[in-house]
Amino acid sequence: MTEIGVLALQGAFREHVQMLRSLGAETREVRLAGELDGLDGLILPGGESTTMCRLMTDFDLWEPVRAFHTSGGALWGTCAGAILLANTVEGVSPHLGAQPSLAVLDVTIQRNAFGRQVDSFVTDISVKGLEGCFPAVFIRAPVFTRVGPDVEVLAEWEGQTVLVRQGRVLASSFHPELSEDARLHAVFVEFCSEKQKTHFPV
Ligand code: GLN
Repeated sequence: MTEIGVLALQGAFREHVQMLRSLGAETREVRLAGELDGLDGLILPGGESTTMCRLMTDFDLWEPVRAFHTSGGALWGTCAGAILLANTVEGVSPHLGAQPSLAVLDVTIQRNAFGRQVDSFVTDISVKGLEGCFPAVFIRAPVFTRVGPDVEVLAEWEGQTVLVRQGRVLASSFHPELSEDARLHAVFVEFCSEKQKTHFPV
């Protein structure tokens, strides 16, 4: 059976776990490298990417998560999680220096692109492959300011790219786990399942 991990260092990991369980998916919180063993996919949740980066270093997770991806594990980063996946991260405080990332997604991502916490909002967007609207929750959200040639744009909002896919990596600026709509989680569960290994359903 397909089992999906949720990186549980910081941020909205419980909401992802709940949503996956509501779909009947097997799921596991991941804090240690060994907890990646046997998983088909891993969700990197939203939260605060600078804090998450420090915890990734403290928990020695950078190389194990890269190796998980290289060996075929699917990844989905939401908001801060998407920042962790990107090749290039912009919008980092100069005194912090360059922000490390997994660099498994050929995009440039701009942190806090819609402003501060008070500028957070919920809006309906249209997602490639899903019927009707999807309620997207943006909280100090980033946007993808450059997408590489192998990256497919699955959703935009007001001309800004907010959902992308490259091979077995999915990344969203917004928080699907904070909405009532489980369809993107269902898509990811399908994506992670054995029979869908080479094909993304949306
Ligand atoms: N602005 C946050 C960061 O850069 C991300 C916000 C979120 O995950 N909701 O880490």
